[in-house]
Amino acid sequence: MTTTDNYDLVIIGSGPGGYVAAVRAAQLGLKTACVEKSPRLGGVCLNVGCIPSKALLDSSEYYHLAREHFAEHGIKTGRLTLDLATLMKRKDTVVKDLTDSVRKLLEGNRIDIVQGRARLVGDKQVEVTLGKKKRVLQGASILLATGSQPVEVPGMPFDGERIVSSTEALNFDTVPKNLGIVGGGYIGLELGSVWMRLGSKVTVIEMLPKIATTLDGQVGRALDRLLKKQGMLFQLNTRVVNAQKTARKVKVALEKDGQTTTMSFDKLLVAVGRKPLTEGLGLEDAGVQTDPQTGQIIVNTAYQTSAPGVYAIGDLTPGPMLAHKASAEGIAVVESIAGHAGEVNYDTIPSVVYTWPEVASVGLTEEVVKEREIPYCVGTYPFSGAGRARCMGEKEGFVKLIAHGKTDRILGVHIIGPRAADMIAECVLALEFGASSEDIARTVHGHPTFSEALQEAAMAVRKCSIYAS
Ligand code: FAD
Ligand code: NAD
Repeated sequence: MTTTDNYDLVIIGSGPGGYVAAVRAAQLGLKTACVEKSPRLGGVCLNVGCIPSKALLDSSEYYHLAREHFAEHGIKTGRLTLDLATLMKRKDTVVKDLTDSVRKLLEGNRIDIVQGRARLVGDKQVEVTLGKKKRVLQGASILLATGSQPVEVPGMPFDGERIVSSTEALNFDTVPKNLGIVGGGYIGLELGSVWMRLGSKVTVIEMLPKIATTLDGQVGRALDRLLKKQGMLFQLNTRVVNAQKTARKVKVALEKDGQTTTMSFDKLLVAVGRKPLTEGLGLEDAGVQTDPQTGQIIVNTAYQTSAPGVYAIGDLTPGPMLAHKASAEGIAVVESIAGHAGEVNYDTIPSVVYTWPEVASVGLTEEVVKEREIPYCVGTYPFSGAGRARCMGEKEGFVKLIAHGKTDRILGVHIIGPRAADMIAECVLALEFGASSEDIARTVHGHPTFSEALQEAAMAVRKCSIYAS
């Protein structure tokens, strides 16, 4: 027998879109349920995405520093060994602590957490199945936040062991000697960095002529050079035709300029993008339309789908597949459901690639500015000229600031260098407030800090950098 429970809002999915929306809804007085099929809350981001990958990036960075850089600081470690099991256990603890915190957060806000697989049935009804048990939730509004899953490439089906997605590549129990990665995007470069630092020979195979294609060209070229210097190998303009498992390896057929070659790897990580996770959600029956090309749910500016009272956010919908975009939409959609003015400024969503050095951007790239024929000025400043970076022994990278040629309004900022991920916040705020390069140039920045490089880049826009020659 099924029972029906009534809510103001039923949210499907507890990722950074769903759980943030749930908390905001509770704050606004909506009786809210959050349905999650997995026993762990937090979605891809906390369980198999942002958090575990950054935990591994941090651990592997320490290992790399100990091996390559401690000696120059006068720190002698003796023979260095890697305990991969402990490294993985630490990552799992970080994940568990954070997912437990999300549960406490939802419970503390009196949100009903309903475990089970959800499906839209009837008018604004959600059927939740857990084993043999079924339950129906009736929502005045329903929010879809079921996220995304890795794209599988024909001829290279995931087997979870040797041809893997990012989920398994976060959990290898030995360091693969030879790791092949299909796709030179976020995941390929971040997880490639992790395993390269831990000792793998990493080859990234990318079908386009460059890696990290969405980056500003100058920054992308610098990243390419620095990763190569660290030992990452790139096969660009190369298409993977298929991958076959042999007794112990994966044999990959590659095609470049009409020529076919083969390469062998111990493991092959396929990271060619992600697609919305909508299977089994009952979208068609509920009248929720999707884009036939991308599979994304079509929404209007208030995140309403084609089915009345049904909303969608996060990786399910157009825009960058980023956790902070999903959370921002989670807040905006709930505020508009509750009658407030909720909105997201898509022009100021930052993006970060957590390689070393880190790459962080907000706003327009130089290529886009040129294409749109906007008059512009550029100021750049290298980290080698920042005292703090010198103290840390981090001299690579630069800040690039693009401002409007006539009004001086900042159009974009692109940073490759130490702590870029944190430095970009100031630039996001600057864009939000419509600041000019002169505003940043005249703002006093602490000394010695990495952010002085941003101030100098801003000064360089008007050719008045103090330190640039
Ligand atoms: P998700 O986080 O995918 O959550 C959706 C939830 O819905 C899941 O818990 C799922 O189990 C549940 N669900 C699905 N179907 C159903 C159903 N029928 N019934 C009930 N529950 C269901 N982004 C960043 O911003 N920064 C990063 O550093 C970053 N690193 C990443 C690293 C990796 C390896 C990966 C794979 C992704 C990374 N991302 C990062 C992207 C980020 O994880 C996603 O953009 C984000 O998780 C999307 O949030 P979401 O709420 O839309 O969906
Ligand atoms: P991606 O879109 O970042 O990169 C995929 C790359 O694969 C592209 O460069 C593409 O040209 C290439 N490609 C596609 N098909 C190919 C083929 N057949 N052969 C060779 N190359 C091919 O996708 P991803 O790295 O899988 O990551 C998925 C998403 O997860 C990202 O787009 C991002 O939104 C999110 N993510 C974000 C972060 C972060 O914010 N730091 C980290 C990891 C993942």
